[in-house]
Amino acid sequence: MITLPVSIIIPCYNEEEVIGETYTRVKAVMAAFKKYEIIFINDGSHDKTLEILTRLAKTDKTIRILSFSRNFGHQAAVTAGIRNASMDAAIIIDADLQDPPELFPEMVRIHLAEKANVVYGQRAKRKGETIFKKLSARLYYRILNRFSEVSMQIDTGDFRFIDRKVMDAFCQFSEKNKYIRGIISWVGFKQVPVLYTREPRFAGETKYPLRKMLHFAMTGLLYFTKKPLKLAMNLGILCILVGLALAVWTLILYFSDEFVVPGWSSQLITIVFFGGVQLFTIGVLGGYIGSIFDEVKNRPEYVIGEKINFPGSAKKQVRR
Ligand code: UDP
Ligand code: MG
Repeated sequence: MITLPVSIIIPCYNEEEVIGETYTRVKAVMAAFKKYEIIFINDGSHDKTLEILTRLAKTDKTIRILSFSRNFGHQAAVTAGIRNASMDAAIIIDADLQDPPELFPEMVRIHLAEKANVVYGQRAKRKGETIFKKLSARLYYRILNRFSEVSMQIDTGDFRFIDRKVMDAFCQFSEKNKYIRGIISWVGFKQVPVLYTREPRFAGETKYPLRKMLHFAMTGLLYFTKKPLKLAMNLGILCILVGLALAVWTLILYFSDEFVVPGWSSQLITIVFFGGVQLFTIGVLGGYIGSIFDEVKNRPEYVIGEKINFPGSAKKQVRR
C-alpha cells in the first residue's frame, strides 16, 4: 500500500471516447494508494466529456472536476490542476492513455527510493504517431535544449510525478503562456527519468492540431531562450559585413578597366534575400513583443465555470 497522498491531474478536451476507459484504468491503479484524488479538468469540451465525468463524480467522491468556461488549452488545464491539487504530490497524465497509468506506483517508488522531487516519463519509443510528429519532436527538443538557458529534458512530455516542493514552486509562476515541462526543468531539485513506451491514442483524434503544436513550440522557445534575438543581431552584422565587402568589390571594379554594368538579376536576388532576412528578424522581434503584450495584459489564464466535489463546492452542486 502506498501511503503518500497523491493528486492525479488529467486534462480533457473532447475526450468522450476515451474518458470512461481512462477512469477505469486509473482507478484500478489507485487501488494501491491509501489516499488520493483524481482531478479532471474539462477544458471547454463540446462533446459529452463533462456529462460523463459528472456522472462518475456522483458515485466516486475521489473524483474532482474543474470545468473551464471555454477551451483555454492543455497547459492552462494542467496549471489549474496543479493549483487546485490538495495532496502531497501530483501526477500529470494525458486523458488519451498514451501514457500508462500503471507507471504511477513505479514513479512513487523512485520518488521515495531516490529522493527525487520530479520523476518524469521519458519516451523510449513512440507508437502510432506520424513520422512527421516523431521527427519534428526529436528535432525540436534538441534545438530547445541547445538554446535554452537551463537544460531541458529530451523526449519528455508533461507525464510526470512532482512532489509538493515542486508544486509550490510551480504555483509561483505567473507567466500567462505556460510551457510547463520547461518550468519544471527550470525549478531544479532532483529530477529523475523513468523510461516508458508511448502508446497510440486509445481512441479519438489528437487534440493538438498543427496550429496548436506550433504555438506551443513557439512558447517553449520564446519563454526559455533569448538566443533568437542574439541570432537576429548576428545575422544583421553578417549582412552588414557582406554588404561592405560587396561595396569594396564594386569600387575596385569601378576603377579597373573591366567595369561592366551589373545585371538586374543579381540586384533582384540581393533585394529578395535581404528583404527576407529583414522580415525574418522583424518576425523574431514580433514573437517576443507579442509575448510581452500577453504578459502585461495580465489576464487570467483560464476561467473556471464549475467545480465539482472540491471541498466547499458541494452546495453549488446541489443548486445546479
Ligand atoms: N488537451 C486539452 N486542451 C486542449 C488540447 C488538448 O486539455 O486544448 C488535452 C487532451 O484532452 C489530452 C492532452 O491534453 O488529454 C494531450 O492532448 P493530445 O493527446 O490530443 O495531444 P498529443 O498526444 O496528440 O500531442
Ligand atoms: Mg495524446
